[in-house]
Amino acid sequence: MHELSYATSILNALMEAVENQKELGKNPLKVSEINLEVGELTLIQMEQLKFAFEVIAENTICEGMKFNVEYIKPHILCKDCGYEGDAMPKDEIGVYCPKCNSMHLKIKGGKEFNIKNAIIEFDDEE
Ligand SMILES: [Zn+2]
Repeated sequence: MHELSYATSILNALMEAVENQKELGKNPLKVSEINLEVGELTLIQMEQLKFAFEVIAENTICEGMKFNVEYIKPHILCKDCGYEGDAMPKDEIGVYCPKCNSMHLKIKGGKEFNIKNAIIEFDDEE
């Protein structure tokens, strides 16, 4: 289940961000939300990822965090007809050119997995 490895890397990144804030003298209470960019070609099942995250984030500052996901459409360059633009996944493993149906493509986008930012709540009362 590769969702678990994504969940683990998200948690690690967040815990590192929390540690950095602590080093700056701040007092993070909770990581409440995360904004992700996920390419449709990653085939990540977000429900599974969230479930895995809930399990590993239990009793951490990230417990109960909300996921906001922006999906990125596959972007291709067709090596047969030269079409460049968005494409739809044909099945679970591939995409095809919407003009000529070729699968001889250069994939230029759609495999992203980026943490855009996270919302950390702080204890402001010094
Ligand atoms: Zn084409």
